[in-house]
Amino acid sequence: MSSDPEEDYIPWIQQFCEAFGHEYFVPVAQDFIEDDFNLTGLQLQVPYYREALYTILDYQVETAEDNGGHTSNGGSGSKGKNELPNKALLAHSAELLYGLIHARYIISKPGLTAMASKFEKNEFGPCPRFYCDGMHLIPVGSTDIPGQETVRLYCPCCNDIYLPLSSRYLNIDGAFFGTTFPGLLVKMFPEIENQCRIRINKVNQDDFGLKLFGFKVNELSASGPRMKWLRMHPQKIDQKKEYDTCELKIPSDEENEDDEDVSSAVMESGLNDDDDKTMASEGN
Ligand SMILES: [Zn+2]
Repeated sequence: MSSDPEEDYIPWIQQFCEAFGHEYFVPVAQDFIEDDFNLTGLQLQVPYYREALYTILDYQVETAEDNGGHTSNGGSGSKGKNELPNKALLAHSAELLYGLIHARYIISKPGLTAMASKFEKNEFGPCPRFYCDGMHLIPVGSTDIPGQETVRLYCPCCNDIYLPLSSRYLNIDGAFFGTTFPGLLVKMFPEIENQCRIRINKVNQDDFGLKLFGFKVNELSASGPRMKWLRMHPQKIDQKKEYDTCELKIPSDEENEDDEDVSSAVMESGLNDDDDKTMASEGN
C-alpha cells in the first residue's frame, strides 16, 4: 500500500536542501546535530531555539496555530510552555539555526568531504575571470555573524570574491558558509592548489597589459594597471622566498635601503611628472 503517510514524508533537512536557491547547502548529518557540543552558543543567537532544533530533527512541535492562536504575549512575563512561536517565525528560526549549524558542519571532516564533491562537480559555478580558465568557485561568507551580508564565491586562483551570477542566491546568508570554510577546503585538498598552480603557470602574468601604440602604460599612471600586484604570484625561487617571509618578519636594514631607493625613485619620477606639467602649462 503506497498510501502510507510515512512513505511520502520528506525529512525537513532534505526539504530545505532541495528548496529553490538552496543548491549550495549540503545535508547536515543527523548525528552532528544531535551532538550538543556542536551546538554550543547557538541558543543565544536563535529565537525559539529548542522548537527550531526539534523542527530540524523532525520532532513534533506545537505552534501557536496548533494551540488555537493563543500566543501568550500577556504581561505575565513567564517564558515557557505557554509561549508558542507562530509557524512563520518558527520556520525562520529553523532556517537560521540550520544555517549556523551548516557553517560548523562544513568545516568538519564529513562536511568538508560533502562540499568538496559539490566543488568538484562545479556546482558553485566557474570564476568569471578569463585568466582563471573556469576555475571552480567556493562559497564564502565575509562575516560569521548572520544577517550582515549574503553569500559570496571565492576563487582560489585569483584570490578574489564574486557575487553569485544568479539572483536566487542573493538572499542566502554568508554566515551559513562562514569565513573559515574556503581556506580549510583549499588546505585539506591540495589538488585545488595544484589546479591553481597549473593555471597560473600557463598564463604568463606579463602577457596582458594595456598598451598604447605598442608602449605599455606605466604602473604609476592613473590609468595604468595599478592593481595588478593583487594578481601577481611569485615566479622565481627568490621571489617565493620573499613571499614566504614577507608577512612574518620585519625587513632587515639592507632591505630597508632597497625600499628607500625605490621610494626615492618614485619621488623623482613624481617630480619629473610635475616638471612635465609645468613645462606643458608654460608651453600653453
Ligand atoms: Zn579567479
